[in-house]
Amino acid sequence: MRIAIISDIHANLEALEATFEDIENQTIDEIICLGDIVGYCANPNECITLVNKKCPVTLLGNHDAAAVGKLSTQHFNIHAKIAIDWTAEHLNRKSKTYLENLPLRKHFDSITYVHSTPYEPQMWYYITSLEEAAFNFQFFDTTFCFVGHTHIPIIIVLDEKRELYVHQDTKIDFGDSGARYLINVGSVGQPRDHNPDSCYGIIDTEQQRYYARRVKYDLQKTQNKMRKIHMPEFLVTRLQEGK
Ligand code: ZN
Repeated sequence: MRIAIISDIHANLEALEATFEDIENQTIDEIICLGDIVGYCANPNECITLVNKKCPVTLLGNHDAAAVGKLSTQHFNIHAKIAIDWTAEHLNRKSKTYLENLPLRKHFDSITYVHSTPYEPQMWYYITSLEEAAFNFQFFDTTFCFVGHTHIPIIIVLDEKRELYVHQDTKIDFGDSGARYLINVGSVGQPRDHNPDSCYGIIDTEQQRYYARRVKYDLQKTQNKMRKIHMPEFLVTRLQEGK
């Protein structure tokens, strides 16, 4: 089975369309979305419609939760808050209902999926260190756990000797060593690893392999739309910087 995992679209329709186009050429059986469909860019309803059509499983992200009033924006920075306020005003009823009903976490066979962290996903913690990763390995019992949220693709391995380390690549062959993996699939609509191209991941359960893919998209078109709706310039320029 080949599964594409996307996350953190943030209403960037151009990035999402380019990503789905790329996925179509990768012989994928199923697409899973880890959430944050909305926030930051100009097309929340269009992105929700597309994700709803293409992804049989989609999880709730913190921006999705905030946009429908399930999460306070008091811990959001000012730019994110402005984007959420705009989004909340512009979501149609159908989009709101869709976001309101998204689950926080799912697991199928050997894979756990969650937007933020397997430990208390509703708290929206970030995994930004090996200590935090080590802690989170205790809260899923599958071989793999896929996350989004930081917008930075990374593969963390807990090997058969219980040693924990960052795999220095965005692709990996698993083999059958008994290791476990915590993998961040990066962000479709607002990458923050200094590469502005859309990022998503593919796991091939037969070939025992995972790899990230990068997809170019019409970034200027996204930026023009954001300026038109008066999104903060910081959010507009960070797209081209990938940070
Ligand atoms: Zn996000």
